Amino acid sequence: MAPERATATCYCGTVKLEFPAEGDDFVDSFICNCTDCRKITASMFASNFIVKDKAITHLKGEDKLTRYAQSATIATGNTMENSFCSVCGTLMYRRSTGFPGVSIMRIGTVDDFKLHETKLKPKIEQFTKDRVAWFHGGEGVKQVEGNHYAGGK
Ligand SMILES: [Zn+2]
Ligand SMILES: [Zn+2]
Repeated sequence: MAPERATATCYCGTVKLEFPAEGDDFVDSFICNCTDCRKITASMFASNFIVKDKAITHLKGEDKLTRYAQSATIATGNTMENSFCSVCGTLMYRRSTGFPGVSIMRIGTVDDFKLHETKLKPKIEQFTKDRVAWFHGGEGVKQVEGNHYAGGK
C-alpha cells in the first residue's frame, strides 16, 4: 500500500501542498523551543515535521511563495530559507543548507487535524534549554536539551 498522503494549506488558502504523512519520505516530527523558532512562529515554540523535498507536491500557489533566507539567528550557523504565503504570511516550510533534500513543514498547516494527534504527533522536543519555564513540553515526547539533529547539544 502506498504511504498515506495529506495536504497542508496556508491561512488564506492560496498555497496548498501535498506530502507523505508516513513511509520513507516522512522523516520525523518535532517540537522546537529555540529562540529562532520563537521569532519565526511569533509564539513560544514551533511544531514541525520533516519530509523529503522530492515527495512534496505544490498543488497551488507555488508562484505566490515569498522566500526569505538568513543565517544570523540559526544556532548551527546554517542558512535557513523560509517560504511564506505572500498573501497571508503563513510560513509553509523551511529548508536548511545543513540538511539538504528535506523540508521542515508546520504541523498547524495540515488540513486533517486528526493527523496532528496521530502520524504527525511530535516524537522529539528539542532546545528544552531555551523553553519558557511555564511550558513543560509535549506529553510522552522525548526531550532533548539542545539540537537533536546535531547531536543534542
Ligand atoms: Zn495564504
Ligand atoms: Zn527551533
